[in-house]
Amino acid sequence: MTKLRRQSLTAYEAPLCETIVDCPEPKDSEVLVRIERCGVCHSDLHMQDGYFALGDGNKLDVRAGRTLPFTLGHEIAGVAERAGPDAAGDKILGKRVAVYPWIGCGTCATCRAGEENLCSSNRHLGISTDGGFASHVLVPHPRYLVDYVPLSPSFAGALMCSGLTAYSALKRLQQHAARGPALLVGLGGVGMMGLAIARAMFPQAPIVADIDAGKREAALKAGAAAAFDPTDRDARKALLKATSGGVFAACDFVGSEKSLAFAAGALAKGGKIVVTGLLGGNFPLPATMFVLKAMTVEGTLTGTLQEANELMALARAGKIEPLPIHERPLAEAQAALDDLRAGRVVGRTVLVA
Ligand SMILES: [Zn+2]
Ligand SMILES: [Zn+2]
Repeated sequence: MTKLRRQSLTAYEAPLCETIVDCPEPKDSEVLVRIERCGVCHSDLHMQDGYFALGDGNKLDVRAGRTLPFTLGHEIAGVAERAGPDAAGDKILGKRVAVYPWIGCGTCATCRAGEENLCSSNRHLGISTDGGFASHVLVPHPRYLVDYVPLSPSFAGALMCSGLTAYSALKRLQQHAARGPALLVGLGGVGMMGLAIARAMFPQAPIVADIDAGKREAALKAGAAAAFDPTDRDARKALLKATSGGVFAACDFVGSEKSLAFAAGALAKGGKIVVTGLLGGNFPLPATMFVLKAMTVEGTLTGTLQEANELMALARAGKIEPLPIHERPLAEAQAALDDLRAGRVVGRTVLVA
């Protein structure tokens, strides 16, 4: 019997370790995917911690509903290897696919509206059910498998989380971005992907902001129109001057008090901020400002299956510049998480199974 090798979470706030079990046999419409690549994401750090930071030392506990050992990882690309009797195996077996990981219950009102990523009784891979830091993953239905050829499997996997998150956020800014350059705050994996996607979707090259000089430089090389350091006291003034009074579209890929305050400070009247970052922190703003600036602040969490297919079509058409990818073996999953936590990663780290 094929073995399932995993880098498992066996306790919260503890290093991952290898566990080996028998590979599950796909039932009904399930498909067993042999994993080639799985990207390492900031959410994996939150899952390993067992909580999200909310600011002021408060925590959102996310340990419920998960049995240990558990497999993290949701940026998966691989080969459809075995299929259950109802999975139309003749069409999918042997295909190289990215896996849409934000799988819902399929029956609630949210899922019926196509927003499985927001389902409250979801089966999100690497979050609620076993994910991709492994040799294989079980996917409930072939509709979650997305063709990615001729892209690289590492890039295809990253598109399913960092790419999809950025795409879904930027889609919500499309009308506002027609009025002037968008502002992207935070240039981690999602932010850099956001820059590449914004260049494909928006008429003008975006402006970026990050506290790290190396990341700002990488963004300018990748086509950003201008880059600001939000810790620089004159940054806001310079940004307002460069945009003749502020931006209409801002995306906060950090999600901290400081990043959101910077985005709000750079906003023109009638502007909109979409928040996708999960770093944590409060956002104190006088309620009056919502009115006086006619501003919108919207949150978004990953993206829908339809958006994943739209994004993949854009990428396969060659419209999205792949981000820098650093591959390392699956056995180094914990070291990859440590590097990400320490801020030592530019672009995306991808595990090779
Ligand atoms: Zn992710
Ligand atoms: Zn649901």
